[in-house]
Amino acid sequence: MTTRRMACILCPSGCELDVRTSGEPTADSVVVEGNLCPRGEEYALEELLNPRRTLTTTVLVRGGVGTQTSVKTAAPVPRESLAAVRAALLGTTIDAPVAIGDRVAEDVAGTGVDVVATRAIPRRSDPVDVRLRNR
Ligand code: SF4
Repeated sequence: MTTRRMACILCPSGCELDVRTSGEPTADSVVVEGNLCPRGEEYALEELLNPRRTLTTTVLVRGGVGTQTSVKTAAPVPRESLAAVRAALLGTTIDAPVAIGDRVAEDVAGTGVDVVATRAIPRRSDPVDVRLRNR
């Protein structure tokens, strides 16, 4: 029997979870304690069986008032795919204008997940919103 301690990050309560497994973990063999709600058990199972993360990074922008924009995966990707996702985005350059939510990459690194912009970048010749200039 192996016990692993982890913190549930799904809400501000941050429950400390004791996760017990014996042998190869399966949904039926894992025992979770310390969770105040059922989501904690789901979180612990996913962390053990299929850990996923949302990746945030930047990509280059051509012809914009800024040279790069921040982006994130539209959904969490398998943790073992993070390096491949980062590598795929390393050489990515997109054209301005960029709006928040614009799709920057589709099915990035074969994960089935898209990458979207999280910062607007107007075209260099477009009138600039003063609020954007001060960021
Ligand atoms: S187990 Fe439930 S209450 Fe506790 S941190 Fe996770 S989501 Fe919040």
